[in-house]
Amino acid sequence: MVRKKILITGGAGFVGSHLCERLLNEGNEVFSLDNFFTGQKENIVHLLNNPYFELIRHDVTNPFLIEADEIYNLACPASPIHYQYNPIKTIKTSVMGAINMLDLAMQINAKILQASTSEVYGDPLVHPQSESYWGNVNPIGIRSCYDEGKRSAETLFMDYKRHNNVNIRIIRIFNTYGPRLHPHDGRVVSNFIVQALKNEDITIYGDGQQTRSFQYVDDLVEGMIKTMAAPDSFTGPVNLGNPNEFTILELAEKVIKLTGSNSKIINKPLPSDDPLMRQPDISLAKKELNWEPKTELDEGLIKTIEYFKSII
Ligand code: NAD
Ligand code: UDP
Repeated sequence: MVRKKILITGGAGFVGSHLCERLLNEGNEVFSLDNFFTGQKENIVHLLNNPYFELIRHDVTNPFLIEADEIYNLACPASPIHYQYNPIKTIKTSVMGAINMLDLAMQINAKILQASTSEVYGDPLVHPQSESYWGNVNPIGIRSCYDEGKRSAETLFMDYKRHNNVNIRIIRIFNTYGPRLHPHDGRVVSNFIVQALKNEDITIYGDGQQTRSFQYVDDLVEGMIKTMAAPDSFTGPVNLGNPNEFTILELAEKVIKLTGSNSKIINKPLPSDDPLMRQPDISLAKKELNWEPKTELDEGLIKTIEYFKSII
C-alpha cells in the first residue's frame, strides 16, 4: 500500500476532522492545518497519538510550505453566524487561502481539491440545482462574503488549471450534518437538536417553508475521497449532497419526535438573502464518481442526536 501525504486545511473543523480520521484509517499520513477559528481540538484529539497525524496551527491567509501528494482545502467558516462575524476575514480566507494553497500545489506538484458550496447558486431560480446553473447570488448582501469568496475561489482554481496546469478538483457541498457540528455553530441541525435536548423553544426563521436537502457527513467524506481519486480529466465542479429535500418545519418536527422533546416551535425573522429552496442534482456525481449518499435523514439524525447527548 502507498502511504500518501495529505494536507487538510480546516482539518480541526466538523467536516475536516471526519476526513482526517477516514484518510488516517486508510493508512495515509495526514497533516491537519487549522487556525481554530471555528475548529476545535476536541474534534481531533483522539487522532493525536497516531504517529501519522500532525496538527499544524496556521492561518491559510498566509503562505505555507509542506511536502504533500494531495491537498483538501476546507479552511473557511461555514455557518452564517461565523462567516458574518468578520466578513472581511471570511472573504480573505476564501480568496487568499485559495491562492496560497494553489501556489503550494503548483510548487510541490500536488493534487488539490476545493471545498466549494451550494451557496454559489445563491437563492436559486432553477430547481434542483445542477452544476451548469450559474446561480443567483447577491454580490452586496450579508451572505456575499461567503458566497462570492467561494465563487472567486472556484475561478482561481479553474485559472490555475488553465494557466498553470495545476491538478484540481472542485466539489460543491450541500448542507451537511453529523457528529462534531459545533453546538453553538448556529446551523439549523445543531441548533434544533441542542434546543430539543434542552427542552428549549425550537427557533424557526421565517415560516419554515424554505427547504434544504441534508447530507450525512460520512456520505460527504466518501464523495470527497472519490472525487480526489477520479481521473485527472475530471475537475468538477461536482455537487455532493443528498437530494432528499425537507422544509425546515419538517426538520423541526422530526427532531422533536426523535428526541422525545417537550420543546415548542417558535418563529423568528428570516435573515436576508436566506435561500428559499435548495436541492442538489447529483447526476454528475453518480455518473462520474459512481457516488450517491446512503444515509437517510432519520438515521443520520439519530447518530447526531446521540453525539449531542454525549457532549451537552
Ligand atoms: P467548520 O467551521 O467546522 O470548519 C472550518 C474549519 O476551517 C475550522 O476548523 C476553522 O477553524 C478553519 N478555518 C477557518 N478560517 C481559517 C483560516 N483562515 N486558516 C485556517 N483555518 C481556518 O465548517 P465545516 O462545516 O467543517 O466546513 C468545512 C468546509 O466545507 C468549509 O470550506 C465550508 O465552506 C465547506 N462547506 C460545508 C458545508 C456544510 O454543510 N458543512 C456546506 C458547504 C460547504
Ligand atoms: N434556520 C432556522 N433556525 C435556526 C437556524 C437556521 O430556521 O435556528 C434556517 C435558516 O434560516 C435557513 C435554514 O434553516 O433557512 C438552513 O440554515 P443553515 O444556517 O443551517 O444553513 P444555510 O442557510 O447556509 O443553508
